[in-house]
Amino acid sequence: MSGLKIDYEKCVGCGLCVKSCTSNALEIKDKKALVNEKCVLCGICVDTCPFNAISIEKEQAIDNDLSEYSNIWVFAEQHMGKVLPVAYELLSKGKELSRKKDCKLAAILFGKDMKSEAEKLIAQGADKVFLCEDGRLKHNLDEIYVELFDMLIKKHKPEIFLFGATGFGRSVAPRIAARIRTGLTADCTVLEIDKDTGLLKQTRPAFGGNLMATIICPNHRPQMATVRPGIMPIQEPDPSRSGEIINVSLNENKNSNIDIVEEILAEKAETIADAKIIVSAGRGIGSQKNLALVNRLAESIGGNVGVSRPLVDMGWSEYKHQIGQTGFTVAPDLLITFGISGAIQHLAGISGAKKIIAVNSDPDAPIFSIAHYKIVGDCVEIIKKLITILEK
Ligand SMILES: Cc1cc2nc3c(=O)[nH]c(=O)nc-3n(C[C@H](O)[C@H](O)[C@H](O)COP(=O)(O)OP(=O)(O)OC[C@H]3O[C@@H](n4cnc5c(N)ncnc54)[C@H](O)[C@@H]3O)c2cc1C
Repeated sequence: MSGLKIDYEKCVGCGLCVKSCTSNALEIKDKKALVNEKCVLCGICVDTCPFNAISIEKEQAIDNDLSEYSNIWVFAEQHMGKVLPVAYELLSKGKELSRKKDCKLAAILFGKDMKSEAEKLIAQGADKVFLCEDGRLKHNLDEIYVELFDMLIKKHKPEIFLFGATGFGRSVAPRIAARIRTGLTADCTVLEIDKDTGLLKQTRPAFGGNLMATIICPNHRPQMATVRPGIMPIQEPDPSRSGEIINVSLNENKNSNIDIVEEILAEKAETIADAKIIVSAGRGIGSQKNLALVNRLAESIGGNVGVSRPLVDMGWSEYKHQIGQTGFTVAPDLLITFGISGAIQHLAGISGAKKIIAVNSDPDAPIFSIAHYKIVGDCVEIIKKLITILEK
């Protein structure tokens, strides 16, 4: 087992480790340091101990031959018989990664009467679809799904396994990772293959979103990640592609301990996350009254209004318009930003936008690094000019 190890030959019970620990995971008893279950293995105490009495023991790979694992898998989550868009987003990214690794891409699809959905997954880039059609999979029940995933992973040994960070994806992916004893990085915004090691580089906001952390899983397989819906763009499907559909079956004795008595669908409120055109304003807009101009411009092109977080914090706009890490993730066809600097927390919510036009008075504003068109100038003046032209 991995964990914090204390060498009691060296420990003198000085208590420096207790003072350094930010998780209250250490105490001194009988002049020796003791670690409890609150330890998060941050390693601060290891660096603090002047007697080198503390170390972190890392578990070695359970399966020593990692080379047995190959190919990339994507979980094609479905609801009421329709595969969710996030699965197509993951397949598009998976295709790119599989080309880099020169391996196959597979989709995992469970449900009832799903053949035509399986064909769509092939058109979207899957070389294989593992398809299990069974009435017990009609509802997303973790314990049934985990059983199947466990069996499939042990049999086919995928190297990388991607899930959408939906409610169900966030629930089932950690259960699988724990069951097969591998790592899982939640809510990734960037996935890449490391050129030298071939490992999956999984990038996600960390420390309250103040920095982006890139995480790898070198000793266990599969390397697992969840990705928020709307982050990865969907590539054009190719209906002429051919692929293999592999039927798999669920252990006939496996039943859930949960009975679904009734399914009540929550009313889906329209949110900015679904908007195809967004006109978005940041602090550079100068005043709340200028937001009326942003509204007018959005209306004239049939778009919705988005804002950066400070505008919500200042009470100029409502949360339902906020874009970013703590707001909505958007993936419009067109996003026009006015006076938004492009902080990482904001960029985390717009990386799926297909075309970005950014307006900022600062030619070096970070938003320009991801914008397709860059306009340097005063945003209020530019909005007024655009309204005049469009309303003509
Ligand atoms: C944990 C955490 C979560 C966060 N979550 C989010 C989130 O979900 N969404 C979010 O947006 N932020 C979020 N933030 C805040 C984020 O860090 C930034 O502070 C925020 O995005 C900045 O908003 P802004 O670009 O509107 O303002 P600023 O950074 O102040 O930028 C204003 C920009 O306007 C330009 N400008 C000024 N005047 C003009 C003018 N007349 N014409 C044109 N341009 C002009 C400036 O050059 C500047 O680039 C979060 C922060 C933290 C710590």
